[in-house]
Amino acid sequence: MFICDNISVNEKGNLAFAGKDVTELAAKYGTPLYVMDENKIRENCRIYKNAFKKYFGENALPLFASKAASFKRLYEIMTEEKIGIDVVSSGEIFTAIKAGYNLKNAYFHSNNKTDEDISFAISNGIGYFVVDNIEELIAIDKEAENQKTVQNVLLRITPGIDPHTFEAISTGKVDSKFGSAIETGQALEITTQALKTKNIKLCGFHCHIGSQIFETEPFFKAGLVMLDFIAEVKEKLGFEALQLNLGGGYGVRYTENDPVFDIDASIGELSRFMKEKALALGLNMPKILMEPGRSIVANAGMTLYTAGTVKIIPGFKSYVSIDGGMPDNPRYALYKSSYTVLNASKMNEKADFNCSVVGRCCESGDIIQENVPLVKPERGDIIAVLTTGAYNYSMASNYNRIGKPPVVMLGDSGDYLAVKGESLEDIVRNDI
Ligand SMILES: *Cc1c(COP(=O)(O)O)cnc(C)c1O
Repeated sequence: MFICDNISVNEKGNLAFAGKDVTELAAKYGTPLYVMDENKIRENCRIYKNAFKKYFGENALPLFASKAASFKRLYEIMTEEKIGIDVVSSGEIFTAIKAGYNLKNAYFHSNNKTDEDISFAISNGIGYFVVDNIEELIAIDKEAENQKTVQNVLLRITPGIDPHTFEAISTGKVDSKFGSAIETGQALEITTQALKTKNIKLCGFHCHIGSQIFETEPFFKAGLVMLDFIAEVKEKLGFEALQLNLGGGYGVRYTENDPVFDIDASIGELSRFMKEKALALGLNMPKILMEPGRSIVANAGMTLYTAGTVKIIPGFKSYVSIDGGMPDNPRYALYKSSYTVLNASKMNEKADFNCSVVGRCCESGDIIQENVPLVKPERGDIIAVLTTGAYNYSMASNYNRIGKPPVVMLGDSGDYLAVKGESLEDIVRNDI
């Protein structure tokens, strides 16, 4: 009945998440509130972990893409679930360190790592850099030399695949701020350079084709382009890649219109395809990595708000205002993302009030969702937005000087605070 199996309605007619009445959580912690289902995060990790082991072997490793959601408790869970991580900034690295995460399985991304980032990552023993371009390669080499070490790296390659048309070598995708493109010869050039660079150890290659992908074919295409590239490098430069990171991007269900996607089956198909192609090219199968973000945490999250003003404009539309908005969830404002919105306090009534659910900021683009069929709320009802575990907390801002909401985890031992909400004092903490 609901888009995910951790959502239900209890005997009081209230929405429950991971079996917990969300109106009680809202009363206990206040709103807006990010809620995360710890067991769903673990379940998602295990889907990847088990599929990798089953299809790609013991050596293969899923990495959690930190940018989807980054706070200490998550890295503790990744340690327990034996999942690698990718990180994109010193802030994400520092958070992982503070959580006791072992950085040997951390991969450092970004198309523009600053000299400070590079130095910070090397001095903290980051496992791998995913190097974007030659300029960066030189900067890493220099810093590794300063710190008298040899840095493991993968190179980020742009395979030129549009995941939503499956078109290979489409110029549009070569034209990207990320990575070095095969088509332009820059991928071979950076590989040549990396192999000659003294304080760099080249371990393999990385690609990432996009996000919210519900098919396996785009990954076949990317995998094939990358294996062909690995074969070319082997032939021309005598180097055979030990690792191949195929990026993130599997889709999640935000609404009923999104398909149910079988990650295990997709990884199974991908592995059969990759093994066959590697064999045909005379290559050893490299250690396979993937770096899902959204599909690990999105459906483990929900955001709770309190309904305020309900405004009916006769002849136009109706607005339901909530006590959060674009500061805690900018995704509709950014890219018109779909979400399912429910009146958590009245789950057994008819959802026949068509409205826009909007935030409290001075910005007409501050919209959570338009054309929502909702049970008409009364002031004080709890409004739930589903599937907000990815790219909500991590994208939150303090626009209009609104504090970021707390993150509450639902685990086997009950509900607990993972991130405190920001107070008014927190808001002025850095003002001089
Ligand atoms: C965003 C991103 C990911 C994660 O993508 P999801 O869609 O959240 O799975 C992985 N790798 C890279 C390089 C990314 O930019």
